Amino acid sequence: MSAFQKETVLSVKHWTESLFSFTATRDPGFRFQNGQFAMIGLEVEGKPLMRAYSMASANHEEALEFFSIKVPDGPLTSRLQKIREGDIILVGRKATGTLVTGNLLPGKRLLLLSTGTGLAPFASLIKDPDVYENFEAIVLAHGCRQVSELAYGEHLVENLLSHEFFGPLIKDKLVYYPTVTREPFRNRGRITDLIEQGQLFADIGQPPLDRDTDRIMLCGSPAMLEELHAMFTARGFAEGNHSQPGHFVIEKAFVER
Ligand SMILES: Cc1cc2nc3c(=O)[nH]c(=O)nc-3n(C[C@H](O)[C@H](O)[C@H](O)COP(=O)(O)OP(=O)(O)OC[C@H]3O[C@@H](n4cnc5c(N)ncnc54)[C@H](O)[C@@H]3O)c2cc1C
Repeated sequence: MSAFQKETVLSVKHWTESLFSFTATRDPGFRFQNGQFAMIGLEVEGKPLMRAYSMASANHEEALEFFSIKVPDGPLTSRLQKIREGDIILVGRKATGTLVTGNLLPGKRLLLLSTGTGLAPFASLIKDPDVYENFEAIVLAHGCRQVSELAYGEHLVENLLSHEFFGPLIKDKLVYYPTVTREPFRNRGRITDLIEQGQLFADIGQPPLDRDTDRIMLCGSPAMLEELHAMFTARGFAEGNHSQPGHFVIEKAFVER
């Protein structure tokens, strides 16, 4: 059996010049936990060209969804951005990753802090009914440079809140906090600064950071992760993993090559 399953693209949506999302069929045997990633890609010259991708769909959904960057000369995404409905993509059979609720100690508020395509694993997690069972409040922060880059997240949250059954369940718990760095917007600045200075909590009218009750998931650029890792560690938060749950967990949204 090949390590990759062939799946059919069901839909593609381009959000900006550098961001798109797509859905694909899902093999019924492909299991994952919300927040995990898998290797996905295309067959190029007879060989699989694969990259890590977070599932943006939740594990109860029939189709798979991914939220992707378009790197102009990127080996995979220069090709992947051209996929259309009916095309075949490859999806690895094994999902993995640290952004799973089991790697966190029990808590009251879940902070999901992301930049760019780092939103993807949280798109999966905010569709998970168990997350709303386990936490009293969920704060989804998404930082981008331009307002247009927030579109996928805005659309996702709007859809969830207007969902007939899910909407009423989450509306008092989920707080969405988009912020941009390079254009005027209602929330301005880097997530790192907004957390450090307490501005994010003031803006959403919630109490400041508290190690006893806050649990945190981070997914973004290597620089953002490094800064926030240092900040949370300095405040006594412990990083969690599969063998030892902690106050926060981290996943890279991409690797610098
Ligand atoms: C755990 C994990 C999960 C990931 N999940 C996603 C995901 O859900 N969506 C997604 O688009 N990518 C994701 N990536 C990145 C992905 O694996 C590829 O790097 C990306 O698809 C580009 O592939 P490429 O072959 O075109 O270029 P690559 O050769 O892989 O990358 C070229 C350069 O582009 C930049 N870059 C790559 N990916 C990104 C990105 N997402 N955002 C900003 N800059 C980037 C980096 O500077 C990198 O050095 C993830 C990476 C990891 C490690």
